[in-house]
Amino acid sequence: MPNIVVLIKQVPDTWSERKLSDGDYTLDREAADAVLDEINERAVEEALLIKEAQGGEVTVLTAGPDRATEAIRKALSMGADKAIHINDPAIHGSDVVQTSYVLAAALGQIEGVELVISGNEATDGRMGTVPAIIAEYLGLPQLTHLRKLTVDGDKVTGERETDEGVFKLEANLPAIVSVNEKINEPRFPSFKGIMAAKKKEVQTFTLADLGVEADTVGVANAGSTVTAATPKPPRTAGEKVTDEGDGGTKIAKYLVGQKVI
Ligand SMILES: Cc1cc2nc3c(=O)[nH]c(=O)nc-3n(C[C@H](O)[C@H](O)[C@H](O)COP(=O)(O)OP(=O)(O)OC[C@H]3O[C@@H](n4cnc5c(N)ncnc54)[C@H](O)[C@@H]3O)c2cc1C
Repeated sequence: MPNIVVLIKQVPDTWSERKLSDGDYTLDREAADAVLDEINERAVEEALLIKEAQGGEVTVLTAGPDRATEAIRKALSMGADKAIHINDPAIHGSDVVQTSYVLAAALGQIEGVELVISGNEATDGRMGTVPAIIAEYLGLPQLTHLRKLTVDGDKVTGERETDEGVFKLEANLPAIVSVNEKINEPRFPSFKGIMAAKKKEVQTFTLADLGVEADTVGVANAGSTVTAATPKPPRTAGEKVTDEGDGGTKIAKYLVGQKVI
């Protein structure tokens, strides 16, 4: 009966425009629609599948601003049992090491965690390192980039797919794993699930609750600083080719001109 914690992150919707704030170049989270990252829906789904087969409890954990409660509710409406929200203004602008440190501190406060499931990469930060850094802080084995995951007794096994081939991995619990987009198809929350989610427990932690000093996190204390950013130029309309019987030749000429062929 594994006690599972799923790391979930609220990210700007891929379809909405992403802007950086003037001054400190941190992400302007209010400027974009926010969603539960799709890879984290899959991480939640995997935890629910394990729970449905073997029992146990699924807790979702996020570090994020007030608005991250929407992502928490989505995970709870899919079927997670409870949630922990690390919410403290001092975390704003934290880098990946600081964020992982805060998450590791929260995991250290949850009793009896046997398995931590995360996404392999967030669609906004795309560092792909949070699970590995947490593993290092907590001294846990890490099985990353899994396309298949099995929990059997006190063992977790998985398949990691890379360009070199498929690796079969195994570790003793407790462990941390990250999953890729091939792991499963996440369920849609049911109406019953959405209603039930409203009553589920969401615990909020500040940095003080976690014993993390505020002056070790946040944009002012991050290991890296963004010193300048240039917005991407807007997309141009492109070139239209009218087919007058010679469309193929015109396209080939265009591609040669662009040095594509
Ligand atoms: C409140 C807050 C404000 C921040 N503000 C900024 C900012 O303005 N600019 C900036 O550059 N960075 C900021 N960060 C840090 C950044 O957003 C990332 O969370 C962090 O650097 C991790 O990198 P990543 O998202 O690329 O993680 P990856 O390593 O790509 O993510 C892999 C997996 O780790 C888990 N994970 C990642 N982040 C979180 C999280 N926050 N909570 C729970 N699980 C998580 C998810 O399962 C995810 O799928 C902020 C972080 C917090 C908590």
